[in-house]
Amino acid sequence: MAKNVIVIGSGAAGMTAASTAKERDPACKVTVFTEDEDIAYSPCAIPWGIEGKSAWSDIVMHTPEFYSRERGIDVHIRTSVESVDESAKTVTAGGVQYPYDSLVIATGGKVFVPPVEGASLGNVFVVRTIRDGKAIQSALDGAANVVIGGAGVIGLELAVSLKDMGKDVTVVEMMDQVIPRIADKDMADAIQSHLEDLGIRFVMGAPLQSVNGSGKVESVTAGGVTYPCDVMVFATGVRANLDIPRALGLDIGVLNAVVVSPTLQPYRRGRIVPDIYVAGDLVQCESAIMPGPTMSQLGSTAVKQGSVAGNNAVSGEKMLFGPVASPWVSVIGEKQIAGTGLSTSLAAWYGIDVVAGKATGLTRARYHPGGTELTVKVLADATTHRIIGAQIIAGEEATGRIDWLTAAAINGMTAEDFAYRSENAYCPPTSMVQDVVISAVRDLCRKLHQ
Ligand SMILES: Cc1cc2nc3c(=O)[nH]c(=O)nc-3n(C[C@H](O)[C@H](O)[C@H](O)COP(=O)(O)OP(=O)(O)OC[C@H]3O[C@@H](n4cnc5c(N)ncnc54)[C@H](O)[C@@H]3O)c2cc1C
Repeated sequence: MAKNVIVIGSGAAGMTAASTAKERDPACKVTVFTEDEDIAYSPCAIPWGIEGKSAWSDIVMHTPEFYSRERGIDVHIRTSVESVDESAKTVTAGGVQYPYDSLVIATGGKVFVPPVEGASLGNVFVVRTIRDGKAIQSALDGAANVVIGGAGVIGLELAVSLKDMGKDVTVVEMMDQVIPRIADKDMADAIQSHLEDLGIRFVMGAPLQSVNGSGKVESVTAGGVTYPCDVMVFATGVRANLDIPRALGLDIGVLNAVVVSPTLQPYRRGRIVPDIYVAGDLVQCESAIMPGPTMSQLGSTAVKQGSVAGNNAVSGEKMLFGPVASPWVSVIGEKQIAGTGLSTSLAAWYGIDVVAGKATGLTRARYHPGGTELTVKVLADATTHRIIGAQIIAGEEATGRIDWLTAAAINGMTAEDFAYRSENAYCPPTSMVQDVVISAVRDLCRKLHQ
């Protein structure tokens, strides 16, 4: 008999799960509940939406009407799921009970706001939804000074957008480098100095102490210094949204996210829970680099998990979600920055000694116009010589290169294997005859054999 599937959440994971379920079994009934008013949009585009480079309407891929008309999926917006009754197999949303055969929990993450005084003042925001983006955009009207809490990728993307809008931008970060955790300090410092050249101010190694003002934010104190502020945005990290998983007593892992099987089913006291699937930012993943838990709060991961969860919700032929290296890329000012696998500090967390190789060259042949500088850093496990991570800063074409290194890392290639077996396609407008990726790995091999 055709299944009745309920999906909680309309982000990348939830809408992919809904569409996949319907695609695999067109006879199934799929209902999505979401607290949001906009669905199926790209949060990744919000920094450019605030600046006006992307129209809000273009960021939203599809409307509830589209899902109903084209895919036969019923989407209830502004409708919170209040509870799930596993024994009756129902969810309660907006005070009404709905039955399900399979349930997909795709409730995403919540922005972590550090517990500082004044964080709830007016003109203080988080950035997660289009609603947040629009609220920030209207508060910026007439604002001169903006403070961004957090120098992660999202904080930096936002800093550049707001600087481009003519604001005086200060980024406050408690760690001593930008893009902490996932980028090495030397690469992070190069990005920071690029952004300082664009006029963005950084306050590093300075935990936020207070947000000050009466009614609305007027200044922000960090590291003992007070900075004038008309608009403040917290970009201080994302935590898994565990409201529903906790209410259901699902197992929560060491990284404070839901533990799942490769079929994306959760556990309760170590036993798989039937008929429930979990996908997106609330899932604890397995690392492809080093057996152990990791987080992969990325749109690309959410889509991949959504398709596995949606398939498994309706099909006996189960799909599996594998371990992740979590490649990421961003455009920050005039630079693209990308990374994959472990950084040096994450490797230390796993107890791995790291050797690094690095090379700088160009994205195109030296004589071909338009090429930009390209720096590639590749990390290997000092004992096994396996490639465990990489980072890239370039003016262009970082994505293909980081995807190449990701494939090497997840397939367990050693540095020597890579240097010996990897080849690069070449044409003057696209690369140097020996790509900088290969030069970096050769440097790594030299260091491993010193
Ligand atoms: C500004 C920004 C930039 C980003 N840039 C990138 C990027 O460049 N590349 C990249 O890979 N990733 C990026 N990300 C991360 C990426 O957007 C997320 O990893 C992805 O959107 C997570 O999708 P999700 O479906 O798991 O969660 P979400 O998109 O958070 O969706 C969760 C959904 O659950 C709903 N919900 C929660 N609780 C309930 C409830 N009780 N009842 C009903 N509905 C509920 C919410 O309303 C929401 O619809 C960015 C994120 C942000 C915020």
